[in-house]
Amino acid sequence: MKVLLINPNQVRTPPAPPIGLEFIAASLEQSGHAIRMLDLCFSLDLYADIDKAMSEFRPEIAGISIRNIDSVLFPNNEFYLDSIRQIVLHLKKRYGIPVIIGGAALMVEASALLDYLGADYGISGPAENVINDVLVKLQRGQETDRIIRGNYQPYAPSPRCTAGIDYSRYYQEGGIAGFETHKGCSSSCVYCIEANSPVAFKNPMHVVQEIRGFVEQGFDHFHLCDAEFNEDLDQALTFCEALKKSAMTIRWVAYMKPGNFSQKLFRLMRETGVYLITLTIDSFKKCPLYWSDTEKIIFNAKNNDITVVVDLLTGFPYEDEELLTWCLDFFRRLSPERVNINTHIRLYRNLPITRIIKADPSLFCFLMGSVTDENMIRPLFFNRIDNNKLRELIAEDKFFKIEGTEIGVNYSRFNI
Ligand code: SF4
Repeated sequence: MKVLLINPNQVRTPPAPPIGLEFIAASLEQSGHAIRMLDLCFSLDLYADIDKAMSEFRPEIAGISIRNIDSVLFPNNEFYLDSIRQIVLHLKKRYGIPVIIGGAALMVEASALLDYLGADYGISGPAENVINDVLVKLQRGQETDRIIRGNYQPYAPSPRCTAGIDYSRYYQEGGIAGFETHKGCSSSCVYCIEANSPVAFKNPMHVVQEIRGFVEQGFDHFHLCDAEFNEDLDQALTFCEALKKSAMTIRWVAYMKPGNFSQKLFRLMRETGVYLITLTIDSFKKCPLYWSDTEKIIFNAKNNDITVVVDLLTGFPYEDEELLTWCLDFFRRLSPERVNINTHIRLYRNLPITRIIKADPSLFCFLMGSVTDENMIRPLFFNRIDNNKLRELIAEDKFFKIEGTEIGVNYSRFNI
């Protein structure tokens, strides 16, 4: 089949290359389909670019990757789906082709998202392993589920096709290439759409080869696209050892969570070029071990000259000011480079935190945003600590930042 793969993501603070589409493109090519990538990130005229691709390539189906529903911040939330809905509508009405959607956003509420966008099919989870079957069924006129669950076979080769992605432009505008060592996350954070998603590791040698492909083109700065790098200590060590053995000189940044670390891991991370980690922390019902792991990770990273930025989500139901004050004092003592504090919790329909809030009407007064959208596709937040109170508690400590007050991501703020 002829498949047009579209990246509609125009966020450029910084721009993020569509790594998921690259895996899909390679998988489709290997299965004998003709593909064309349409990256709209830098497009100045979306519809002119879409029409040009449609008339030149004449695809039979379009695949659209959706990274995020919205910017997950409040206030000044940016909602991305309306412009994507217009693209879906354009493809269907003007060209009459089916549209299949995928990407990280579908981990939320795939069916409601499909309805909202007016698309035909959706793949939730890694799509590269299942999209060919979907296309074959469509080609044969066989019945296909509307929502297909994606999967990834551990250690399976996962080639990437970057044709049509202008990496030089991404780098010029502050973006960097990503790579991933695994899919999924085994943690069960109550507010996270990736919680308890199936974990499958990639072959470290394949990932290193993938990085080499970029290095050979002159790109040496990367970010890890894993939910959290330290999903498994042995796997993280094996990957770092393979990267070290490759003797490539690169710089890279990673997300990490408390747990699954060792002094050796941090040493290897530094030796292979890690200069920044973002540590994902939340204050919801944590045990002492969680805080002690947090402390040790910050200590070990600093000991290896790795900058640590903490993304702290707090202000959950039933938490009080005492806990917030304790968290602030805890990080004052550990003094990472920065602590980004977010007290606006984005709710999605099937999350445990949403069920907790829905069960207690006394919490409804802390809801803000689109309270009437039952599917919670339009942004809905829970917030019980207002920013003025937060500013008062932060006082003069400059390394605390209130999330949403500054544009950018951690690697663009601390590109050392
Ligand atoms: S550890 Fe990170 S990715 Fe995993 S569930 Fe928690 S917040 Fe989500």
